[in-house]
Amino acid sequence: MKIGVSGIQGDFREHKVMLEKLGIDVKVVRKPEELDEVNGLVIPGGESTTMIRIMKMVNLYEKLKQKIKEGFPVFGTCAGMILLSKEVVNFPQDSLGVIDIKVERNAYGRQVDSFEEQIEVKGFEKPFNAIFIRAPKVVDYDENVEVLATYMDSPVLLRQNNVLVASFHPELTEDTRIHEYFLNMVKK
Ligand code: GLN
Repeated sequence: MKIGVSGIQGDFREHKVMLEKLGIDVKVVRKPEELDEVNGLVIPGGESTTMIRIMKMVNLYEKLKQKIKEGFPVFGTCAGMILLSKEVVNFPQDSLGVIDIKVERNAYGRQVDSFEEQIEVKGFEKPFNAIFIRAPKVVDYDENVEVLATYMDSPVLLRQNNVLVASFHPELTEDTRIHEYFLNMVKK
């Protein structure tokens, strides 16, 4: 099994380190043809406006979108979540539209734009320390989207078939459980 991490922009190195800690062969993906060399892709946190623009420029956008529709597993954190969502508000921007959620960017307030919270995750025995950095908020979602964790009544970890998204940054902790959850999705 080989996992790709989108190296277009953002904190992809942290995802790479975490996956390698789990013994996974990781490829940093920047070109469309590299998507065919991996069994799944992680899209990191960063700046979603820049990411989507570059993805289109290097022709990764169309190919990735098509592959995800055919069942290719993806995991997006923070900006990665924004990129995968169906609709983006504040401000509206283009996205891959592969998970039926509507997200509002930078929605957790201006003063306290970064914080950590212990959250309960479905299927986990102990809470997960979630780090939020200018995080997007899920303001609406379809009934076929599974909510795996919430914080203050908003879903923060969600899954729809082969698409997993987190509004926080598991790659910035030492806790590998959410990455392992994604690896199990890839194995199946
Ligand atoms: N606010 C950023 C955006 O809209 C996401 C922040 C992050 O990935 N930490 O792209």
